[in-house]
Amino acid sequence: MLPFAVRKFLYHGYQRLVTRMLGCVFCRIAARQAHATILYEDDQCVAFEDIHPQAPVHFLVIPRKHITSLNAELAGENLLLGHLLRVAARLAKEKGIDSTGFRAVINTNAEAGQTVFHLHVHVLGGRIMRWPPG
Ligand code: AMP
Ligand code: ZN
Repeated sequence: MLPFAVRKFLYHGYQRLVTRMLGCVFCRIAARQAHATILYEDDQCVAFEDIHPQAPVHFLVIPRKHITSLNAELAGENLLLGHLLRVAARLAKEKGIDSTGFRAVINTNAEAGQTVFHLHVHVLGGRIMRWPPG
């Protein structure tokens, strides 16, 4: 297998190329230029159904602002980050998975499985989740 540094370099190069060619899909969803099933939106964030749900309930909460990941410079974003989690919890309650349980996940970079480089909180529920995650 290729060394980690080489895999990382290739992975980021690929992601940058895709984003440059197509634009950021989540920015386009937030701007209503790409289709998604929107669950909630306000001036700071948008929540929509995941296109490939991994659980009976699976939606994403994103900031309107293009932030690539939790590795980005986040000084000054405390309120926004808190807001994303509060919206996630409120929608989980509306979806009826608050008492049974849900998982809020932020995949960050290659080995965590991040594929879209616009920060997003996954909210999954409606089935039993295993730990540790794969
Ligand atoms: P991640 O792998 O953590 O970066 O998660 C990206 C998520 O975005 C995946 O669960 C995808 O199914 C989802 N996704 C990608 N494109 C779209 C889209 N156009 N509409 C809704 N969800 C999407
Ligand atoms: Zn974006």
